[in-house]
Amino acid sequence: MAAKVRFGLLVAMFQAMSGDKGSAKKRGRLRVFLDRAYVPSGGRDDFFSALRLVLPGLDRERGTYGLKEAALAAVLVDALGIAKDSPDAVRLINWRRGGGGRNAGNFALVAAEVLQRRQGITSGGLTIKEVNDALDRLAATENRSEKASILSSLIKKTNALEMKWLLMIILKDLKLGISEKSIFDEFHPDAQDLFNVTCDLKFVCEKLKDRSQRHKRQDIEIGKAVRPQLAMRVRDASAAWKKLHGKQVVAECKFDGDRIQIHKNGEEIHFFSRCILDGEMLVWDTALNRFAEFGSNQEIAKAAREGLETDRQLCYVAFDILYAGDTSVIHQSLTERQEILQKVVKPLKGRLEILIPTGGLNARRPSDEPCWSIIAHNLEDVEKFFKDTIENRDEGIILKDLDSKWEPGDRNGKWLKLKPDYIHAGADLDAIIIGGYYGSGRRGGEVAQFLVGLAVPSDDNSYPKRFLSFCRVGTGLSDEERDALVTKLKPYFRKNEYPKKPPKFYEVTNNSKERPDVWIESPDKSVIMSITSDIRTIKSEVFAAPYCLRFPRIQRLRYDKPWHECLDVQAFVDIVHSSNGT
Ligand code: ATP
Repeated sequence: MAAKVRFGLLVAMFQAMSGDKGSAKKRGRLRVFLDRAYVPSGGRDDFFSALRLVLPGLDRERGTYGLKEAALAAVLVDALGIAKDSPDAVRLINWRRGGGGRNAGNFALVAAEVLQRRQGITSGGLTIKEVNDALDRLAATENRSEKASILSSLIKKTNALEMKWLLMIILKDLKLGISEKSIFDEFHPDAQDLFNVTCDLKFVCEKLKDRSQRHKRQDIEIGKAVRPQLAMRVRDASAAWKKLHGKQVVAECKFDGDRIQIHKNGEEIHFFSRCILDGEMLVWDTALNRFAEFGSNQEIAKAAREGLETDRQLCYVAFDILYAGDTSVIHQSLTERQEILQKVVKPLKGRLEILIPTGGLNARRPSDEPCWSIIAHNLEDVEKFFKDTIENRDEGIILKDLDSKWEPGDRNGKWLKLKPDYIHAGADLDAIIIGGYYGSGRRGGEVAQFLVGLAVPSDDNSYPKRFLSFCRVGTGLSDEERDALVTKLKPYFRKNEYPKKPPKFYEVTNNSKERPDVWIESPDKSVIMSITSDIRTIKSEVFAAPYCLRFPRIQRLRYDKPWHECLDVQAFVDIVHSSNGT
């Protein structure tokens, strides 16, 4: 049967759904499609061949196409055989601006405009099977001209509407306005659950092809990927605390690596026999004895492939255990799972760590070793842990109900995440360094944090002459970047011998927190840095500028920007007001 179902039928459904308001109507259309077009089901993977096109993001059978919008635009230009500088090619390549048209930012719609001028309205009658075969070929080749020729033959066999939906399928985003759960539920009441514990759409479609037959709830298994439990975002610590009211709560560092499930069966990994671990893959720096910044996982993998010597190695942090010995343990409480985790996994410093609370705020590790997990007894514990975590350059924290089960694919508030809400890119705060603070511990005796200022615009349009102190910032730079910066600024450091006044360019309050250890002699010797911060600024009592940043972070150093182009106070106040963050 499925071999004969036309792709046009699916496209008609997509098109109608995208015009429907409300999910009931959209669901109704899918129901009609599945009930009528696919009954009686003939071949083994009938439902799969259609559902993999409805849920392209969940299809693991085909490799990736290697075609995001930019690459797809280039291949499409080749497939259409149009000149690269022709208006249509330019329109495709500049899809974000949409050639000025109303479809700006939606690649498939911009492409549809271009295709409409070239394709007829009659469908070539392509079947769903033929579409899948073509998509298989598209994923199988890495050669761009082969990709173009596959697209070109598809263009010949489709109309502009069909081609538009095909492009959305390739981009894995249909923008149908219907949730994955609704789609699964229309197919079969047990589909979502089964998918969550297998992550295998083909398997789900085959197992549930008799849509009137209920399926016994399946537990997780070794060797089958489980949909990860997710965290719900909360605005601040008190909202989180309120939500978890009365619960036993563990607060953990939110590590910024890659979520990885380890399925261990037999002796491939040492220490334990059969288990599924849930955790984060990070990079450990053996020279600095701490986790490296995000983004180095790929570098490490590359270095390992090329046999290069490095101080960095992959380190897995297991924060949960889902399966141990011969049973799933996801139905047990987090407290119980943490006990199992401790029994089953023997940590190996810098290679394999387990995340177990250190018992309370008073039971901290030695000061140089950050604490990654605590039992929080009250709101103050959460706030302090959050602040410490951000200062330690970590991404945020996750709060978990210690009584809760592990739920595949769930984001219903058993795990809450708290992160500073950084100001969007585009609103860079380019402040000037006016002073420095010495660090402690590893950074003792060297400037480790900076006092930055904003310019007071001068009346006569000349370079600014005064700068208001604005915030103190230390995080965000790598060690190398910081060392280079301090070396550059060092000749201009002036010790701050209190109550000696700062250099005349700087305006500060009398608050002692604002006295840096060194001042920069004059602004023209200084460097501008782009700062980002939590979007919620606070009225400043400590600094001279009217507002102060929460969780400021250095985004990058702007050696390229002359000192006098420092952001001025008025522009900053405007940014604050437009971010609605007073
Ligand atoms: P974000 O973009 O904020 O990182 P996300 O969409 O990747 O969010 P969330 O569900 O919001 O995922 O947050 C959970 C993610 O945080 C997990 O997928 C995991 O990769 C990561 N993580 C880091 N540390 C922990 C931890 N201690 N416990 C649970 N998840 C953690």
